[in-house]
Amino acid sequence: MPIDTAADYAAKHGLPAAKPPAQPGEKSLAGQKAIVTGSSSGIGRSVALGLAQAGADVVVNYSSSEAKGLEVVREIEAAGGKAIAVKADVSQEDQVQAMFAQALDAFGTLDILVSNAGLQRDAAFDEMTLDEWRRVIDVNLTGQFLCCREATRIFKRQGVRPDVSVAAGKIICISSVHDVIPWAGHVNYAASKGGVMLMMKSIAQELAPLRIRVNSICPGAIRTPINTEAWETPEAYASLMNLVPYKRIGEPEDIAHAAIWLASDYSDYVSGLNLYVDGGMTLYPGFESGG
Ligand code: NAD
Repeated sequence: MPIDTAADYAAKHGLPAAKPPAQPGEKSLAGQKAIVTGSSSGIGRSVALGLAQAGADVVVNYSSSEAKGLEVVREIEAAGGKAIAVKADVSQEDQVQAMFAQALDAFGTLDILVSNAGLQRDAAFDEMTLDEWRRVIDVNLTGQFLCCREATRIFKRQGVRPDVSVAAGKIICISSVHDVIPWAGHVNYAASKGGVMLMMKSIAQELAPLRIRVNSICPGAIRTPINTEAWETPEAYASLMNLVPYKRIGEPEDIAHAAIWLASDYSDYVSGLNLYVDGGMTLYPGFESGG
């Protein structure tokens, strides 16, 4: 059987060919529409700003503070981008469906989902309440399922829109290094992120033939409100650095850069990837000195 090049394959299936190398100053997400869940703060905010800077119109999802959601919208608009703020609790099916409907009403199409909303409810295992377990699984895992499913329905319906992307849609799950690193005192959180890993990979396998790409970004320690106690004092920061071979905390922008790449056609052959953006946290830092 003759071997197809990417161009042969695209021509045979009536698809646009893979993207040529980047041009200086190019906006890699021009004309694309994105939803970023939990984007009124932290990583989500930075990802929303980054996608907008790369040319996407963005739905800024928030669950409680409309003021903070609108602040991110204003920041995007001030930089020349387009955004709307939409309230939804990602653990609630009706609210997720209403958010995607609002996105389509506002922008007409959808090309990118960054499923980022997440929370922690920490407790020693034997003291963890069922409510603490359920809330974290509901938001961090079921919330990702609901958002990914809704995005997939739209991407399947739309198909490839060659004017904006060679893929029919891109899903990026924000997971964590704790999808592989066990975390005492945070069993609900680690279980939710471990679940995200196999959910993401299973969806990626199922949807790749439809040209829908699904990947995860797994942050290490990033300076956001979710983990203030891990970095706000010099002592806490020094102790945190024992876990980070690269010897600096991550900034939300470190995640945004990865998200822009995964959302763009420059990662067109990437599907089912767990991308650790962690300064080496998953490299068993305890062995830095030879073990
Ligand atoms: P953050 O607390 O600033 O952001 C979490 C966002 O999710 C908030 O905006 C919050 O309002 C939103 N949210 C919470 N529950 C929600 C719900 N039910 N519906 C919709 N939105 C909801 O913290 P962050 O660090 O920016 O976290 C973002 C994601 O990154 C989370 O999934 C988190 O697990 C993951 N993460 C963060 C780190 C880190 O070091 N900061 C490391 C690994 C993974």
